[in-house]
Amino acid sequence: MPQPAAPAPATPAAPATLRRVSHELVARSLTVHRVEDLTPSLRRVVLGGPDLAGFDAPGPADHVKVFFPHDPHGEPRLPVVDGGRWVNHDDPALLYRDYTVRGHVEPGALVIDMVLHPHGPAGRWAAGARPGQRLGVLGPRGSALPPLDRAWYLLAADETGLPALANWLDLLPASTTAHAFVEVGGPGDEIDLRSDARTEVTWLYRRDAPAGTVTLLADAVATLTLPTGPGWAWAGAEAATVRAIRRTLRDERGMDRDSVQMTGYWRVGEANFDHHSPDA
Ligand SMILES: Cc1cc2nc3c(=O)[nH]c(=O)nc-3n(C[C@H](O)[C@H](O)[C@H](O)COP(=O)(O)OP(=O)(O)OC[C@H]3O[C@@H](n4cnc5c(N)ncnc54)[C@H](O)[C@@H]3O)c2cc1C
Repeated sequence: MPQPAAPAPATPAAPATLRRVSHELVARSLTVHRVEDLTPSLRRVVLGGPDLAGFDAPGPADHVKVFFPHDPHGEPRLPVVDGGRWVNHDDPALLYRDYTVRGHVEPGALVIDMVLHPHGPAGRWAAGARPGQRLGVLGPRGSALPPLDRAWYLLAADETGLPALANWLDLLPASTTAHAFVEVGGPGDEIDLRSDARTEVTWLYRRDAPAGTVTLLADAVATLTLPTGPGWAWAGAEAATVRAIRRTLRDERGMDRDSVQMTGYWRVGEANFDHHSPDA
């Protein structure tokens, strides 16, 4: 009797990867409802108003463009969306920067955590933020939903990436191993982050060095022994730092490019750095 052919060995399923979900592009005019200092360097701005209807940003690093007034006491020039397209982006009166949506901390509100620094209009606006002020918000255009079933996660951020890193830790299942590295000025700049037996948060202090001038974050990632099994790496920080981290993980540690999701959030000496540029 001929024997039935042995079943072909199952091909291991490729691990799930980033899923992108598009949103209808909407421009909103929102009011500052509350301002709260999380640390001396990070200020929470809670925005609300009728325009917030339908707002959704479920991904940990989902971000919006925030539109500021030129005069801190004035009204911001707002983006105009027509047929799903932002049509007045060349208007020189628009003043906008990217900010992460700090998800799930306050239902019915849009929460952004802003670094206070004197070098740019958004950082200065944050220093004078008060309830009742108005801001424009565009987006998010889409959400990036990472897989949550990898064996381990490596997260790295300076203060600008800290809101997204906090979202990540809120989202990851408790059974997941997570190594988080956060560069801040000093111990007073730490915020409460989810921590449990499988989450290790390492705070790195710049001390007196200005932001963007040290290699603490990239060095810390370079010295980490990566856990075994399929992992995922995310970073949000100054652009040169992110490039160094990406290089270490992809080129030296051989992580596959689809599992390394990171972008420069700002760049020393450059206003309104474009995080879609090749330098990011
Ligand atoms: C996807 C994305 C999400 C982001 N999420 C957040 C967030 O949640 N919270 C947040 O605070 N920032 C976030 N950022 C970073 C923020 O958009 C930039 O820091 C932005 O440049 C701030 O605008 P500004 O007007 O203050 O400075 P700009 O006018 O853009 O820059 C003026 C000068 O300030 C310097 N500079 C910019 N940012 C800093 C900084 N943080 N520290 C020191 N010097 C700086 C620049 O190098 C430049 O020399 C995010 C950026 C991206 C791309």
